Amino acid sequence: MKYERQQLFIAGKRHSTSETFLSVDPSCNKPLAEICKADKPAVHAAVEAGKRAFPSWSATPPISRSRILLRAVALLRQRNDDLARIETHDTGKPFSETSTVDIATGADVLEYYANLIASGGLNGETTHLRPDAWVYTTKAPLGVCAGIGAWNYPIQIALWKSAPCLAAGNCMVYKPSEFTPLHALQLAELYAEAGLPPGVFNVVQGAGDVGALLTSHPGIAKVSFTGQVSTGSKVASAAAAGMKYVTMELGGKSPCLILPDADLDSAVDGAMMANFFSTGQVCTNGTRVFVPESMLPAFETRLLAKMRHIRAGDLMDPATNFGPLVSRVHRDKVLAYIRHGLETDGATLLSGGPSPPPPTPGVNPAGFWVRPTIFTNCTDGMRIVREEIFGPVMCLLPYSTTTTRTTTSYLDALIARANDTSMGLAAGVFTKDLDLAHKVVARLEAGITWVNTWGESPAEMAVGGWKMSGLGVENGRRGLEGWVRNKSTLVEMGGSVGTVFAKL
Ligand code: NDP
Repeated sequence: MKYERQQLFIAGKRHSTSETFLSVDPSCNKPLAEICKADKPAVHAAVEAGKRAFPSWSATPPISRSRILLRAVALLRQRNDDLARIETHDTGKPFSETSTVDIATGADVLEYYANLIASGGLNGETTHLRPDAWVYTTKAPLGVCAGIGAWNYPIQIALWKSAPCLAAGNCMVYKPSEFTPLHALQLAELYAEAGLPPGVFNVVQGAGDVGALLTSHPGIAKVSFTGQVSTGSKVASAAAAGMKYVTMELGGKSPCLILPDADLDSAVDGAMMANFFSTGQVCTNGTRVFVPESMLPAFETRLLAKMRHIRAGDLMDPATNFGPLVSRVHRDKVLAYIRHGLETDGATLLSGGPSPPPPTPGVNPAGFWVRPTIFTNCTDGMRIVREEIFGPVMCLLPYSTTTTRTTTSYLDALIARANDTSMGLAAGVFTKDLDLAHKVVARLEAGITWVNTWGESPAEMAVGGWKMSGLGVENGRRGLEGWVRNKSTLVEMGGSVGTVFAKL
């Protein structure tokens, strides 16, 4: 095995359990490490450790909490490449990506919240109600919170959850996906080295059953979840039964609108980033690419030319920009969608398809590799157009730019098609007309939108889904609000209590 046995991390110490599972390298289907699976007593012990740490951590002045978190930021940046190698082995994402995105964007968010709380980000408001009375509000942390992560951005998700959680004075029990567990102990020990007190950040490992133990645990005040819509519904229902706070970062089927005046090169680059970055395993992917009928032939030609720049290969080679899918089960799911697109939806295959990728240096056929795939002339009812595939599968949807009798303009029809989904995570528009871009964006039903770009999600930008894609936001100033509760206090200075029970 490449890595030592991974234990849980509870109350500042490694914690062993007898039952284990394996983490597998998706590039070659070989085991990477044995992972201890949390049982019920371990989950309980992690929650209790958080409860014991909470009074002192929540009472620590924000500036002191900030100093500890900033030390963790420095350690993350110092160890960027070591951590990136672990993420590459665990997720199958190329090192060119993990070393520039995954740890960096996680550290940025930790730095953002550390600085925010040190500069008044947890302050409340004061309202001068009348000359002798005022109202003030304070923000109080929630308690012990659960973080449950998906496998596509493991350490980034762990940091996007733990950063505002800990900054606000809460403690966390974090459960990574069973498919990508390797970052968790590393992060917990890095936090401890930075000075985080024992019990403030705990790790339990395991599958959905361990997540469910956390979600239903009475000691958990909030569940921050990243994953599929179907799992998110279950998690939110379980949390609602205990009146727990939730943040739900779920899936999407996002529209990417190429308007008739868009710059062709930029639009094709945007569509490719929106479909093939991270081998398509990005929640905000713009998998429904709407292209004007008249532009479609040129768009396809340019797209096919640029597909040559997708380079599968040795994941540590800096030139490699396309890896395998994360697991066998996920690879099989994505291939089933591609076959469905061909055989049942009747979509036209422009590139890729379900057959194994051609022999390529550095690509082990035992791994979970697939071909980047493009379907063209798709229609809105196709299953590949309606459901989240979460793989490198782009659907091109042509649209007419002539106005019909039933619509006031082609844009109305286009926007109606873009919004015709139960999900609302992201959306984007490519056009040279910025007035039009803002008007279109304002009508798109999605929580994250881009104009003439795709995918960037900086620490300053609050992100979260509309409709079935989630509840609440992560990042930005608003991201901190999900980790505190408000207390309003009315202070009377008039010297007497206004009462209706006075003598007439
Ligand atoms: P899943 O919903 O399968 O799993 C997410 C996490 O929930 C995992 O840790 C999983 O454990 C755990 N889990 C499973 N069942 C339960 C349960 N009953 N109670 C509590 N926890 C449970 O998602 P994936 O891991 O497949 O991630 C891919 C999905 O995540 C995609 O839909 C993607 O769009 C979405 N996503 C959303 C993002 C956003 O910000 N909106 C960002 C990234 C991804 P285990 O895996 O170990 O079984």
